[in-house]
Amino acid sequence: MNIDAIENGYVIDHITTGNAMKIYEVLELNKLDCQVALITNAKSKKQGVKDLIKIAKLIDIDFDKLAFLDPDVTVNIVKNSKIVEKRNLALPEKLVNVTRCKNPRCITSTERDLDQIFNLTNKEKQLYRCAYCEMSLEK
Ligand SMILES: [Zn+2]
Repeated sequence: MNIDAIENGYVIDHITTGNAMKIYEVLELNKLDCQVALITNAKSKKQGVKDLIKIAKLIDIDFDKLAFLDPDVTVNIVKNSKIVEKRNLALPEKLVNVTRCKNPRCITSTERDLDQIFNLTNKEKQLYRCAYCEMSLEK
């Protein structure tokens, strides 16, 4: 695979080193039938080193999930071998069904049909709390 030449797809750039594998797992990129390249410790002017993920298909990406995992990433959207959009992600105000509440007494652990909702309560600290039981979320 020529990792520099994607016809249609995404280049997830400026991933904090070490996060690429986590993103790969959480976004379930292993289930894709297209080419996916995971590059770790790439040289970066801005960060020193960074990770990169290239996906050779315009799949549906859950950008909230991605932003939650690493709010500093940039997603380059590639169409016809050209970058048509550079999307900067921001930490989502609300996470819906991204992760589960770990409080065993939380209503979501018994009521399995409920959406798992977390609200961003402290932007600087990137702190989320469960919408039901207020338990803070640990990444
Ligand atoms: Zn909860």
